[in-house]
This record gives sequence, structure tokens and C-alpha cells, in this order.
Amino acid sequence: MSSEQTFIVAGASLAGATAAEALRAEGYDGRLLLIGAESARPYERPPLSKEYLRGEAGRDKVYVHGEDFYAEDDIELRLGTTATGLDVTGRRLTLDDGDELRFDRLLLATGAEPRRLSIPGAALDGVLYLRSVEDSDALRERLDRGGSLVVVGAGWIGAEVAASARQRGLDVSVIDPLSVPLERVLGAEVGAIYRDIHTDHGVKMLLGTGVAAFEGTTAVERVRTSDGRTLDCDFVVVGVGVQPRTALAAQGGVYVGDGIVVDEYLQTSKPGVFAAGDVAMAHHPLYGRGIRVEHWANALHQGPVAARNMLGRSDQFDRVPYFFSDQYEVGMEYAGYAPAWDRVVFRGDPASREFITFWLVDDRVVAGMNVGVWDVTDQIQNLIRARATVDDRRLADTDVPLEDLAPATETGVA
Ligand SMILES: Cc1cc2nc3c(=O)[nH]c(=O)nc-3n(C[C@H](O)[C@H](O)[C@H](O)COP(=O)(O)OP(=O)(O)OC[C@H]3O[C@@H](n4cnc5c(N)ncnc54)[C@H](O)[C@@H]3O)c2cc1C
Repeated sequence: MSSEQTFIVAGASLAGATAAEALRAEGYDGRLLLIGAESARPYERPPLSKEYLRGEAGRDKVYVHGEDFYAEDDIELRLGTTATGLDVTGRRLTLDDGDELRFDRLLLATGAEPRRLSIPGAALDGVLYLRSVEDSDALRERLDRGGSLVVVGAGWIGAEVAASARQRGLDVSVIDPLSVPLERVLGAEVGAIYRDIHTDHGVKMLLGTGVAAFEGTTAVERVRTSDGRTLDCDFVVVGVGVQPRTALAAQGGVYVGDGIVVDEYLQTSKPGVFAAGDVAMAHHPLYGRGIRVEHWANALHQGPVAARNMLGRSDQFDRVPYFFSDQYEVGMEYAGYAPAWDRVVFRGDPASREFITFWLVDDRVVAGMNVGVWDVTDQIQNLIRARATVDDRRLADTDVPLEDLAPATETGVA
């Protein structure tokens, strides 16, 4: 097919690895390089705050592919190697080992990295972040020692780390300036359910206050909140969001906003250069605007779409955004995209922790979350895609099948 060509994927994680796999599956037989800054072969991050962190699953459970996969598929996996320079006009990528590679197509799958705090004491030992498998190993070692943990930030990572640490028997406090955990995505009403889940499991929730400083001699010993309280601790995990890793793209003159801006085909502003996963701000046909999704399913599915388009296809990425979270015994899945809504409808009793929440705008479902209720993602995504007006009472009525509320569509399921 294209044996004279060279395709490069920069970023060897979920989006990059699934793109490389798809290129070969689609018949690409030219040179294929997968460049990864980390030393581990591509792995999935969700277990790092859950079963892997708690020591219930080993490394073999997190890898995207088996050890021999890359060699067998003739994918040149260059680990521990960072792409540092991009010349789009000359079609060259420079690596930190001095190598310079010519490419015909390039996929930027450089992901995201944790936002760092720059408050007094931020550099003390024991102030930890969680993104990589090494971060999770370091955190697990702390959990093994026991003691007390302060989690800064009650977003997904903070909430999952708090749950895992409680499951390992540590004393856990969570601090967040918002009024409930996960408020930005779920809103105050649904976030309160998660607050109660954590307090029921013995987490001390300090909400509506920020962190002013970490205090200690060489290692963190205390956290001072912005409303003047102090909390003694043995270590801290900061989970205050991530930012897309756009430096390489920007250096190459690729258009960057909140992420690398791509169209619905995951093509950047530069022909032949694509982006996928956490780093991509992709125009979404369903929403008519660019959105950047920092979740597993997005990376898993965008990689192969980018791969097919690198081969000259015109595949749109139009999946309904989807993610999942596990905290204690409470599992959930969320589908949709809801930066704003005018009301929330519950189907089932939230107190039972087996229910579905719908977020609505103008009588249409824009997002849905099933907690402890399974095999409903297709129906929820169909409701979102259909944009049909729904009646609140029927939506809330567990006797009315979800299928009856919206016609089935073909695509978009996680
Ligand atoms: C602890 C944790 C738990 C999570 N749990 C969930 C969950 O329960 N549900 C869910 O839906 N999502 C979850 N996520 C989010 C999910 O893991 C991410 O959306 C997914 O990892 C994104 O994949 P990616 O390939 O786009 O980017 P990343 O995973 O960020 O990978 C990008 C890779 O590119 C490399 N790289 C960056 N720059 C360069 C360069 N210049 N040269 C070479 N390599 C480079 C990086 O080192 C990295 O390995 C979780 C994330 C974390 C950290």
C-alpha cells in the first residue's frame, strides 16, 4: 500500500497505541514509529487510582497490549524518548536523543498533565500528584505505610484516591473550594450524593475552602486551608485538574487553543498532522463546537479514527462523550456533554445508590449518569442523540422502558 511512507505517532499511551494498532489493522505497511516519553509501554490510567493503586491488580493488568505486540506488528516503539521539535513544512520530528525523523503523517497524542499548585510548601516531600504508573507506585507505597492523607481537589482523581485510601484504612480528608465534590460536572444536587457517599465511608469533607499552604520542615506535616484551619497529615495528593500537553504542537506552528484544535476528522490546522485523545480539542458534529474530553473512551476511540484519516479516509469522530468512575462499591457511567442545564431528573432513588440521573436543557436530555444500574448506556446515548423532547414523569418512571423514550441510533455507544 504505502511501503515507502513513514507515519509517526508522538505519545505512546492509549490514544497513540490504539492508533498504531489501527494503522496496521487497516493495512498500512510503511514505516511506523510510536514515540513515548515514559519508560513503560503503553498502559491505561484508570486502574492507577483504583485497583492498581490499592494493590489488587499488577502491572500486567494495565498494559494496552501484550509485550510482543509492537514487534509483531512491526511498530517501532521508542520508549523513554521525547519528541522535542516539530518542523511541519520540512516534515521532520526531532527527538531528545538527537535523532531527526522524516514523516509523511504525524499523530500528536501527547495527552495531558496534572496542574501543579504554586502555594507555599508546594515543593515539600509528600506532596504528590497522580498521572503515571510511577506516580501510582509512589502513592501505593504511602498507602502501605498508613497514616493520614489530605486530598486537595474533589474532582474525579481526588474522589477516587480518597475512596481507595479509605478502602486501605487510612484517615482521609478532602478539601475543595466548591460546595460539593464533582460540582463542575455533576452540579450541586448530584455532587451532594457523592459527598454523602464519602462521608458515609468516613472521609472528612472540607468543602467551600481552598488550600493556602503546605507546612512542614522537609516533608509536609500540615495543610493550612484558606479559611484558617490546619490539618495534620502524613502526605498530600493534589488533584486539581489537568492541562493538555500542547508545547510540541505549538512549537511546530500547529493551531492550539485549550488543546490542539482539530476538525471532526481529527486533522489539525496543518495538513498531514492529526491529534487525538486528551490533548485534542475536536470539533464535535453533535454539539457544533470544539470539545476536549479527558476520558478513557475518548482516547480509545479517537486513536483509530485518526489512524483511518491518516490513511486518507474521511471518518468523523461523533461519539457521545462517555466516562466511568468507581468509588468504594459505587460504580457509575456518564454519557453526554453538559456544560449547562436547566434541570435534573432522577429515575430511581438516589438514596439507594442505584439510580439514573438525567440533565436536561429545554426538555431534551443532554447527559445521563447511571449509578449502580448497568447496560443502559446505549439507551441513554440514544436519548441524547435523538434530541427528542421528553416528559419528566416518563423519564423518571422506572416502569417506562428507556427504549420507549427515544428511537435507537446506530453509533455512539461507549
Ligand atoms: C489516575 C487516573 C485515573 C483515571 N480514571 C479514569 C476513569 O475512571 N475513567 C475515564 O474515563 N478516564 C479516566 N482517566 C483518564 C484517562 O486515563 C485519559 O483520558 C487517557 O489516559 C488519555 O489518553 P491519551 O493517550 O490521550 O493521553 P495520556 O494518557 O496523557 O498519554 C500521553 C502520553 O504521551 C506522552 N508524551 C507527551 N508528550 C510527549 C512528547 N513530546 N514525546 C513523546 N511522548 C510524549 C506522555 O508521556 C504520555 O505517556 C484517568 C486518568 C488518570 C491519570
